[in-house]
Amino acid sequence: MPRTGVATGEHAIDLAALARAGALAEVEDAEGLFSQASLNAFMAGGPAIWRACHGRLRELVANGQLPSEALFQLGEVEPLLPFEVADYVDFYSSLEHATNAGRIFRPEADPLPPNWRHLPVGYHGRAGTVVVSGTPIVRPCGQFWRHGQAAPEYLPSERVDIELELGVVIGTPSEHGRPVPVDEALEHVFGLVLLNDWSARDVQGWETVPLGPFLGKSFATSIGAWVTPLEDLMDRRVPGAAQDPVPLDYLRTEPMAFDLELSVSLRSAGMASRGEPPQTIVRTSARNVYWSVEQQIAHLTANGASLRTGDLIGSGTISGPEREQRGSLLELSWNGEEPFELDGERRTYLEDGDEVTLSGELLSDVSGRIVPSH
Ligand code: MN
Repeated sequence: MPRTGVATGEHAIDLAALARAGALAEVEDAEGLFSQASLNAFMAGGPAIWRACHGRLRELVANGQLPSEALFQLGEVEPLLPFEVADYVDFYSSLEHATNAGRIFRPEADPLPPNWRHLPVGYHGRAGTVVVSGTPIVRPCGQFWRHGQAAPEYLPSERVDIELELGVVIGTPSEHGRPVPVDEALEHVFGLVLLNDWSARDVQGWETVPLGPFLGKSFATSIGAWVTPLEDLMDRRVPGAAQDPVPLDYLRTEPMAFDLELSVSLRSAGMASRGEPPQTIVRTSARNVYWSVEQQIAHLTANGASLRTGDLIGSGTISGPEREQRGSLLELSWNGEEPFELDGERRTYLEDGDEVTLSGELLSDVSGRIVPSH
């Protein structure tokens, strides 16, 4: 039976079992809250309940007071999607990523669109296809126009890509019609996950003008099985990039970023069959984000749109200034023109059987393997 839990070291703590044992008396109706397949009810409770639960768990772990019926080896539990995703928004907030994408697709023009330094650019994605780490990813089919062909075709995508992102998980909702002030935005945040925003670049390139990303993105988005509470990440907050020009009042705050090392590894089917380990192809830092989480939340509610418990907010691909810091294969292979090396092979986009893993300090891994189209 599914229930909610906490990962700590090698173990998963079964919170429903802990509540039944009477160890979570600080949390009202703890047994009802945790005997569920998602964290949503708990997340809706707000920061005071999160902190009470967190503090109690720390105490139980430190004092070795966890009852054995609530302790499992991490390897013996089957992780589910940790929360029911309400709305999914994806931003485009890394300056290096936006600049690289601009250089690739608009080599003659200014790489950054004129709005980019004035607002966090984003779009609404598809919440229903957010999947938990480990879920196989079927190579999507779609319409695109291959170079040199007379007409568009419907085919399996030939440019399946990854996007290395941080995902913000919203706990408490906001009121419809009332923008969330930038200095209150963090109060709505329950925690963070790593997020792989799988992308079919050929489909995306053909469909995206004039209304933005659609089927090239919506086939799947993978997130980690365990949400890291914001409270555990506050001491990793550092000043972000200086913002020039100074943003409008509703976005004005000292922009902060998370000092967390991030990486991407890739293992082909051939490497797996030979028992070879995955190869790290990207190393970057979550510091490389221009717009802060608070600014993203203030902007996405600036028109009165409300937050819901379970909203997922992607940072956008996180890239850095060096080649190995590029958080997508689009950038790493410069849209296929500059292949990178994987186990002695020249590679551009993902092949069937490739397994991708996103890792980050204090964050749960996100893995996915590409399986052939049906
Ligand atoms: Mn994205």
